[in-house]
Amino acid sequence: MLKKILIANRGEIAVRIVRACAEMGIRSVAIYTEPDRYALHVKRADEAYSVGDDPLAGYLNAHRIVNLAVETGCDALHPGYGFLSENPELARICAQRGITFIGPDAEVIRRMGDKTEARRAMIAAGVPCTPGTDGNLESLEEAILVARKIGYPVMLKATSGGGGRGIRRCNDEEELRRNYDRVISEATKAFGSAEVFMEKCIVNPRHIEAQILADSHGNTIHLFERDCSIQRRNQKLVEIAPSPQLTPEQRAYIGELAVRAAQAVGYVNAGTVEFLLADNQVYFMEMNTRVQVEHTITEQITGVDIVREQIRIAAGLPLAYRQQDISYRGYALQFRINAEDAKADFLPSFGKISRYYAPGGPGVRVDTAIYTGYTIPPYFDSMCLKLIVWGLTWEEALNRGARALDDMRLQGIKTTAPYYQQILAHPEFRSGSFDTSFVESHPELLQYSEKRRPEEIALAIAVAIAAHAGL
Ligand code: ADP
Ligand code: ADP
Ligand code: MG
Repeated sequence: MLKKILIANRGEIAVRIVRACAEMGIRSVAIYTEPDRYALHVKRADEAYSVGDDPLAGYLNAHRIVNLAVETGCDALHPGYGFLSENPELARICAQRGITFIGPDAEVIRRMGDKTEARRAMIAAGVPCTPGTDGNLESLEEAILVARKIGYPVMLKATSGGGGRGIRRCNDEEELRRNYDRVISEATKAFGSAEVFMEKCIVNPRHIEAQILADSHGNTIHLFERDCSIQRRNQKLVEIAPSPQLTPEQRAYIGELAVRAAQAVGYVNAGTVEFLLADNQVYFMEMNTRVQVEHTITEQITGVDIVREQIRIAAGLPLAYRQQDISYRGYALQFRINAEDAKADFLPSFGKISRYYAPGGPGVRVDTAIYTGYTIPPYFDSMCLKLIVWGLTWEEALNRGARALDDMRLQGIKTTAPYYQQILAHPEFRSGSFDTSFVESHPELLQYSEKRRPEEIALAIAVAIAAHAGL
């Protein structure tokens, strides 16, 4: 088994990995840049080292991070999500320096990180894809020809894109002309690559993704699916496992497709195969070669600790479960609580958390790195907490979600939590039938009142009295 792991990440996912290490008797090493000196992942890891003053550069410097892993006697490195997690260079440098990379092979990361190469690999493996370009677009003229062939609306997408950025829908030729250069410049800025491709836009689909686990002994299994259709601007807000809108046949089919996709590229470790579902048609969209933000809900319904499995797989152990050992129970929902003012066009709301009370009680899980007094730095993602609830039935999970959101007190910054209460109360959502257009088609849900409720006011008064009394 691995003995010491360097965590090349920050925030809640770094804390999540520290926790897995602690439970497995593995020493954890955190890294931090200056704004993160007082971050929870730094406090919680067994050791922590600075990687410089610049907020971001240190987290993105693969050579420096792997050097640190070698110098501190680590035998492995966990990349988390975001940052360098899908950068094949990090995996390659780890391999060269004798550090076990907790993720797939560098070449597989490279191949799946290139969305056009991934599409080609899937078509070859018989996994259905959206109609689109074979490779990257060379010119606007080519884009117009392809769009005429596949029919509008189309999606222009950054080939190395991620995080919901670098994607634009074009409803007609005029929009395509207008967006073509924009997507190229967005892609260049965000991903350092000007490559773009085109796909047919699937109108109002469901986003369904399957979690897979593959060991280095040829075993590949899936842990069922997640429904991530509740999105804003192609970014996930609320995730659900299993999807309340699949038939058992669709569920089995998507699981099998995901396993086939992983096997086709020689995938090892945990991964996610993302699909779009519309009119009983399933289309491969992309594969994420890392632990996903919403891995938590799969853990809640299956009982499998995905980060632990990642570490065991990287250590060369066979999977602890066969496909027939995997079952699921109930429903889990994850709310991405972002430091954003939903009512002000989701404007980031960074700053100091004056008070934080964690929600609790049955079926509630919180993955976060915030605490009372912590200042959310403006340099990173705005997601500051993941609230996960589990319930035996769909209705129980929904009610538990509303109760847990209500339990939580997060003061000093604006968050998306009140907006999620509105989603939870909506009959369409409650009926378990919604697609990726839900958020956009319900702008009225952003009209909620921010008047504080009586019990919150009572609590604020009690806190003020206690502070005054010097308690
Ligand atoms: P998930 O696919 O796990 O749901 P997200 O798409 O929300 O994850 O991305 C998680 C984090 O990783 C976000 O901070 C996002 O900006 C970042 N990220 C994802 N893909 C990329 C990429 N290709 N380049 C840079 N950052 C990325
Ligand atoms: P990222 O790498 O940023 O996660 P994805 O390719 O996974 O990008 O797409 C993100 C989201 O954009 C999807 O969940 C979906 O809502 C939307 N999307 C992407 N491609 C299409 C498409 N061809 N048709 C309709 N929606 C799409
Ligand atoms: Mg995606």
